[in-house]
Amino acid sequence: MKPARRGAGVQQRRHAAATEPAFSGHALSDRTLDPDDWQTFRELSHRALSDMIDYLATAADRPVWQPPPATVRARFARCSPRHGRDLGEVLADFTSHIKPCATGNTHPLFLGWVHGAGTPVGMLTEMLAAGLNANCGGRNHIGIVLERQLTRSFAHLFGFPAQASGVLVTGTSMANFLGVLVARTAALGQTTRVEGLRAGPQLTAYTSAEAHGCIAQALELSGIGSRNLRHVAVDAAGAMRLDRLDAAIAKDRRQGRLPFLVVASAGTVNTGAFDNLDVVADVAKAHKVWFHVDGAFGALAAFSRPLRPLVAGIERADSIAFDLHKWAHVPYDAGFLLVRDAQKHRSTFANERAYLQRTPRGLGAGKVWPRDLGPDLSRGFRALKVWFTL
Ligand SMILES: *Cc1c(COP(=O)(O)O)cnc(C)c1O
Repeated sequence: MKPARRGAGVQQRRHAAATEPAFSGHALSDRTLDPDDWQTFRELSHRALSDMIDYLATAADRPVWQPPPATVRARFARCSPRHGRDLGEVLADFTSHIKPCATGNTHPLFLGWVHGAGTPVGMLTEMLAAGLNANCGGRNHIGIVLERQLTRSFAHLFGFPAQASGVLVTGTSMANFLGVLVARTAALGQTTRVEGLRAGPQLTAYTSAEAHGCIAQALELSGIGSRNLRHVAVDAAGAMRLDRLDAAIAKDRRQGRLPFLVVASAGTVNTGAFDNLDVVADVAKAHKVWFHVDGAFGALAAFSRPLRPLVAGIERADSIAFDLHKWAHVPYDAGFLLVRDAQKHRSTFANERAYLQRTPRGLGAGKVWPRDLGPDLSRGFRALKVWFTL
């Protein structure tokens, strides 16, 4: 038996609980998911890392993509094995059957579907984050500190106030959805969380005919319904026609509906068209509706002096959704929602439960936790790979 490590007790009890019947008479202390032999583990891990570095360094020598061969598909059509195998064997399976059949977006000639390629540094940070295995839903640790620093940095980048609020999510589809929820709560008040959408006039939202499909989906998921999303016609450059936007909002209001949200695109997925954000901001302000920007890849034009004019006016948005896994090439997945009014963001998601109560000090301390800014409670350390990349 290997010598006990400091702090290993809780871990061993936890592992034992997962594998033992509740009242087994086994001594709990000799069961663990740690390697039996750390030296072998170290050697296998070093080799795996080295192989993956080769894989990235020689990406251009391979075809961009190949379909998983029938033999490989057949292999994974069976249930996973019931008996444990040595890590070395499982790594060999990875090398033979999994690694050659990935998406291909790490290849320099992969140009499809607005995919990011990731980076070698990104790969390294995923490993470091897994080593820490931090739960970044909240509490008092460095993961929360880092995510807050990212929020402050993005607020600065986009010309938002320093107190703006933000949260890492899986991607822009999720960020847009959360943005719609914040806009809805801002329009109807916090009671809509409890009462639902029953009372009051029909909410309506506006976006361009070229907007990403996840905007309509966000309206569906929010319960508002995609029928209440108006797809405004675009001009020859693919940008939303703002005279039409203005007219559509005015018409709905005349007919007794409640326009609450306009979603502008900073880079459409079909053609890379940018809506004129400054004028959208004027229209949104005139009609007192929430101004959200879907900037999945295009918002990051703000990082570039020559491209920044494309997103002029983004600093006037109420909220911005964007991805780090596209143009910034952070490994999947990493999207972000930035909200100007931190109180409105928090009041959409925060709730009080005994197990979420803040303590005055210790690991349970802290004011605003990421779990107050979105629906996820347990969440990984996405902030680390974004921080390293930036
Ligand atoms: C990619 C994209 C989305 C969806 O983002 P995901 O990260 O894939 O969820 C939304 N809008 C636009 C304009 C996009 O390019």
